[in-house]
Order: sequence, then structure tokens, then C-alpha cells
Amino acid sequence: MFLFRCKFVMFHAGGVERIDWRNPTLLEKFSSAPGAAVAKPTYDVINADGMYRPAAHDISPHVTQLADMLIAIGRRIDARGHAPATGGNYSVRLDDGSIAITISGSHKGRLTRDDIMRVSAAGDALDGKKPSAETLLHCLIYAIDPGAGAVLHTHSIAGTVLSRALAGLDHIGLEGYELLKIFPGIDTHATRVELPLVDNSQDMPALADQLRPLLTAQSPLLPAFYIRGHGLYTRGPTAEAAEHRVEACEFLLCCAWEECKLAGATR
Ligand SMILES: [Zn+2]
Repeated sequence: MFLFRCKFVMFHAGGVERIDWRNPTLLEKFSSAPGAAVAKPTYDVINADGMYRPAAHDISPHVTQLADMLIAIGRRIDARGHAPATGGNYSVRLDDGSIAITISGSHKGRLTRDDIMRVSAAGDALDGKKPSAETLLHCLIYAIDPGAGAVLHTHSIAGTVLSRALAGLDHIGLEGYELLKIFPGIDTHATRVELPLVDNSQDMPALADQLRPLLTAQSPLLPAFYIRGHGLYTRGPTAEAAEHRVEACEFLLCCAWEECKLAGATR
């Protein structure tokens, strides 16, 4: 489909779950580290039947603040054109190991607090809302990276077409860019970063199985990867840091794609 070579960039390549926070076994389920002490959520609501049913007024100020932050991030990402239709999803890890994440089918530029739900570390809904199928990938990232506090997933034109142009390759090589310094441990442009690149699939467990060994083999962990023809996953210790990395990665992907086009045009 793409007949030119890139000369300047190195391309090698539901339901509500029963929860009783007083039960230590169940508490442990929500810990990211089995056996670790689990902080009691500040916003648990145990009804007479033992069911957890948070309502808008039950959400703690802290979780509300995080939800509002995701809403604001969604508006900014959408304004940059990286959240078309209902594409993308965003999450933050809560103190108890559960995850606050955007629900399935919500437009990320028009999020409300009702569009944010809680899932367990395993991706099970905790409040009766419907999680996105890609919630599993967020869970995978939090499981392999204890330093991940937020995960942002975007869909951009540049990343989509670039990753498709690299058919058959298992990474996107980015070299010589100043903005590479956004990655941990990099303090110079004179370096090369290879973002893991995997083929797209609608089978999320299979996609997670494909990603797990690729990501865990990294040393140090790279806070981003790409799903071909689909989108970028980036993470950070905070939502703010993750957003900076999204901006940097999408900028770098755009640069790489523009250079690729330039190389093709000058052949
Ligand atoms: Zn997606």
C-alpha cells in the first residue's frame, strides 16, 4: 500500500459485584499486590444487603476530583483531534487498587461524571456500569507497572497511518527528536526509542496475552505502546504526567509520519 521507504526515521521496523470491605479476602482482591495491606476506601457504601451501589452523591471528593480531571483531559485530547467519535479511554488507579475508567461508548470530549465508572484490578465492574472492552488493557498495564497511576488511550490520524505503513514490524522507531526526553531516563535527543507495535484485534484477552511478554521484557519499562491501525496507550505516575506523554508521543508519531511522507515525496 505504501511504496516508499522512510529515509530519516529508523523504522524497523456486569453486573454489580458483591463487596464487603470488612471481609479481608475480598479486600485482598482489590490489592495490586496480593497479601499487601489494603487501604479501606473512603467512599464505600454497604447497603443492608451487602451490595455496593455508589450513587453520584456517594462518591468521595477525591474520586470526584479524579473524575473531573479525566473529563478535562478528555476535552483537551478531543480538541487536539485524538478522540474521534467515541474512540479512546482513560483511567486512573485508586488508592484501594481499583480503577476509575471511562465507560464504554462515551464521547471523550463530552464526558460527564456519569461516564466514569469503577472496576476492580481484574476489570470487573464495581458499580453496574458497562466497562469498555479495552478495560482489560488498562488492567494489564497497572498489573505490570506498579508506577502507573493513570493510563490514557488515544486515536490519531498520524499514529494510525504510520503504524499501518509499518506492516509486519513490531515496533515504531523514534530517533533524534528533542521530545524523546519525555521518556523516563532519557536526557538527550541523541537516542532511539522503539515503541512496541502489535497488530490490532477485537479479542482483548488475546491482545493482552500478546502484549504482556513484550512489555514485561522491557528494562526499563517504556510508558507507551501502539496497536496497529488503532491507537496509542500511554501511562504515567499521575494523570497529568500521562497527558504530557500522550502529547509528546502523538507529536513524535506525527513527526515520524510527516518525515516518512517527505521521504516518499523526494524519491
Ligand atoms: Zn481504542
